[in-house]
Amino acid sequence: GHNHRAASEVTSGFVGGKVPLGLKRKGLRIVVTGGAGFVGSHLVDRLMARGDSVIVVDNFFTGRKQNVMHHYGNPNFELIRHDVVEPLLLEVDQIYHLACPASPVHYKFNPVKTIISFLSSLLSDSALFRGSFVLGCLLNPTAHKTNVVGTLNMLGLAKRVGARFLLTSTSEVYGDPLQHPQVETYWGNVNPIGVRSCYDEGKRTAETLTMDYHRAAQLEVRIARIFNTYGPRMCIDDGRVVSNFVAQALRKEPMTVYGDGKQTRSFQYVSDLVEGLMRLMEGEHVGPFNLGNPGEFTMLELAKVVQETIDPNASIEFRPNTEDDPHKRKPDITRAKELLNWQPQISLRQGLPLMVSDFRSRIFGDRSDANP
Ligand code: NAD
Ligand code: UDP
Ligand code: UDP
Repeated sequence: GHNHRAASEVTSGFVGGKVPLGLKRKGLRIVVTGGAGFVGSHLVDRLMARGDSVIVVDNFFTGRKQNVMHHYGNPNFELIRHDVVEPLLLEVDQIYHLACPASPVHYKFNPVKTIISFLSSLLSDSALFRGSFVLGCLLNPTAHKTNVVGTLNMLGLAKRVGARFLLTSTSEVYGDPLQHPQVETYWGNVNPIGVRSCYDEGKRTAETLTMDYHRAAQLEVRIARIFNTYGPRMCIDDGRVVSNFVAQALRKEPMTVYGDGKQTRSFQYVSDLVEGLMRLMEGEHVGPFNLGNPGEFTMLELAKVVQETIDPNASIEFRPNTEDDPHKRKPDITRAKELLNWQPQISLRQGLPLMVSDFRSRIFGDRSDANP
């Protein structure tokens, strides 16, 4: 069980208590949980470039040291291997809480999940492979536990040191939405006992906890609802659609379209998201804020853009869809435009080539930098 003792204690190199945000524009002490992951590592790059001291807290469940290795040796940078499900003692000004098993396919630290993904790789059926994510969630509530207990711990930390706390929630809180596009005031359509609910409901609970701490402990909080995001450093084999299509097209394998391919998503380039997260953290508004690119694509249209970008001869193969797959998703970003003065700058056609060159070098280039 978990007690209230800290699992790790780290000196951040700063003496004294909390520094008021307004007085110290530079040199903030910032924790990024999940900072070795895809989004987190890009955020860390921006914070480091701004001159902040950054502590990455990550258990490397889906993240990779390679994503932040270029900061090793910088005295403003620190990397802690730590599972946020365990308590953590740090002295910081801001917490960006990103830690969450967001990708379907990394089970090596979990015996139950490892067995399932081993079975599905034997059967090498993509639908079953996707099913392994679903089954993994059902049999082992890692995603839910990290979202609930991990978020609680980081809120407790924020409360103790008076830090500002930003939660990276998700468009999945809208479930299979009955409103389109989705506005922040929409309460969503989530199946609480469905195969996706370990993730959806975990994030919904994380939002609830965040608002409870805000109201009860006067904690300064920010909530971002992130829509599908892509870019360099994305896990190559994590089963998300953009990474799947790009890796498949590069490897001359057919792109696997689930269902009829008419379901929609809106794809945001990672630098746009990072800009939005930083504006949200520095701004005066709690949110929640949708952070996403309103450009909406069916999966068939996405496959076409990948064809245009990588290989006009790339083929498509239809596979059965997963259970409870949301039919459409598109952010209404009016609130972020008005209150954060933010909107995405990079279209899918502009952003995809930037991701493709990263994937190309990781798939065909230096093996030491390739994903396991
Ligand atoms: P990612 O898997 O690349 O990053 C998540 C990071 O969290 C990884 O580095 C992982 O090792 C770490 N982590 C997981 N469980 C942990 C734990 N218990 N303790 C410590 N570290 C842990 O995923 P990402 O795409 O960068 O997502 C970052 C955040 O943004 C997540 O909270 C995710 O839910 C949210 N989000 C992402 C998207 C997207 O499309 N990428 C969409 C909606 C929401
Ligand atoms: N916590 C933490 N680091 C801290 C302070 C708290 O990890 O610096 C954890 C703590 O172990 C607890 C959770 O955050 O599990 C919530 O803390 P809080 O003080 O809000 O609740 P309480 O400990 O009173 O239940
Ligand atoms: N999808 C697909 N082929 C793939 C992977 C996913 O057609 O190889 C579909 C999936 O069914 C869903 C959409 O792409 O409708 C987005 O899936 P992803 O897992 O990337 O994100 P999420 O469902 O969380 O939005």
